[in-house]
Amino acid sequence: MTRYRLTRRALVAGAAIGAMAAGFPRLATAQAQPFEFMKLPYADDALAPVISANTMGFHYGRHHKGYLDNLNNLVRGSDLANQSLIDVVKASMMNPTRAAIFNNAAQVWNHDFYWKSMRPGGGGRPSGKLMAAIESDLGGWDKFRADFAAFTVGQFASGWGWLVADKGKLRMVRTSNADTPQVQGMTALVTIDVWEHAYYLDYQNRRADYVAAVLDKLIDWDFAAENLARAG
Ligand code: MN
Repeated sequence: MTRYRLTRRALVAGAAIGAMAAGFPRLATAQAQPFEFMKLPYADDALAPVISANTMGFHYGRHHKGYLDNLNNLVRGSDLANQSLIDVVKASMMNPTRAAIFNNAAQVWNHDFYWKSMRPGGGGRPSGKLMAAIESDLGGWDKFRADFAAFTVGQFASGWGWLVADKGKLRMVRTSNADTPQVQGMTALVTIDVWEHAYYLDYQNRRADYVAAVLDKLIDWDFAAENLARAG
């Protein structure tokens, strides 16, 4: 079972919203956000020492929250405000007039997915159908482990390393900036964020050390297996 921890900041914010709703119901309704900030499925220090609470504070609390706030400001009152997040990503991709909406919506989706791709005590090896697919499509566990790390580390500049299901086969994919394979006909299984903000406080320029530690100690292979099952 996942465990949620209410931070003091969240409790204070919750109390403030409660007070607003009690005293100023119209104001509270008018300020409702089209998209919600995903609660972390673990405490902000639960991934330490691989990812410190300090990094979580900036990455989740500032960067991820920043994308969400930008997105809400961009779509509030528009026809996109009532759509699902992934539909907003689809509706704005490849559309230069909606580039800011795409970047922020896709980054919210990518970060929601990244936090779910990890768990305290994760890593190790998958089993069942996922492991069988890694053996048949990607050369077996040891080869995949080495290839996926090197491939993800090799993303030039900011972006993401992904394991995806694509037309019934597993494949590794890299995306730049906010791009996401989920709207390119593929099903994402897990991702590793390789924007510098994901690792610089803890690892400085040692991206390879960060990727290896996430892969070996944090990746939630049960989450990947659930996504593979949904891919059909
Ligand atoms: Mn990030």
